[in-house]
Amino acid sequence: MEAGICVFPKNCLRWGKSSTGCYSVKEFCQLTLNVGTPDVVWENVWERLAPSNVECFVWRLLHGLLPSKLELSKRGISQISDLRCAFCLQEVESTDHVFFGCSFAWSIWCKWYKIWDVQCARPVEGKNFFNSWSSICPMVRVLPLWKMAFFAISWSLWICRNELIFREWNKKVELIIETDCETAVFWINNPNTTPFAFKDLVNECLSIGTNLSWKLYWNRREGNVKADRLAKAGIEPGLMAAR
Ligand SMILES: [Zn+2]
Repeated sequence: MEAGICVFPKNCLRWGKSSTGCYSVKEFCQLTLNVGTPDVVWENVWERLAPSNVECFVWRLLHGLLPSKLELSKRGISQISDLRCAFCLQEVESTDHVFFGCSFAWSIWCKWYKIWDVQCARPVEGKNFFNSWSSICPMVRVLPLWKMAFFAISWSLWICRNELIFREWNKKVELIIETDCETAVFWINNPNTTPFAFKDLVNECLSIGTNLSWKLYWNRREGNVKADRLAKAGIEPGLMAAR
């Protein structure tokens, strides 16, 4: 069935969703069905590999919805006078820059690559980087861990960026790190006990904290599970996505 509403050759009514300008049930059905097609990025984000708040964060990152300095200035936030990236203090802080383009941020991704002996070119844009992330995983059996690393690294970069901007923690505030990995805490607090295979990692952690005032605490895993459950109960992905 086709219902043409184009009557006059010059001034006429046209249905904008059709190349002919004529409304048809078939094209209407195709259009409405396509609206429901799942976004690939969306599917890969909501895999329950990270706490809900971190999944929401990555989704917002990939859709350019994080309040980077550039985005805030575009929205007329007049208090943003210095648009420079908090990490490198050189380039404008766009979302893609602070996570991927910045030399500091990229050095963190490269540390992860180095652990797995992987080489990869610096990405230009976050969404493509996320989509190709799984394909550069070196071993199928570590794929869940590899996918999780994207969440962990990007989340850590954002936390670090916020701390630099809002709290200047490297000058005034003591950094508190909590983890449920008791062994890692023991090794970092007692470097001499670290097995040879992990010495580089532990030494790197210690070197990063050389100029900082920081403390490392071990939390029971049950506590983290409970906190994760509370976070998931409090944040509905659907609600966050709609914002
Ligand atoms: Zn930068």
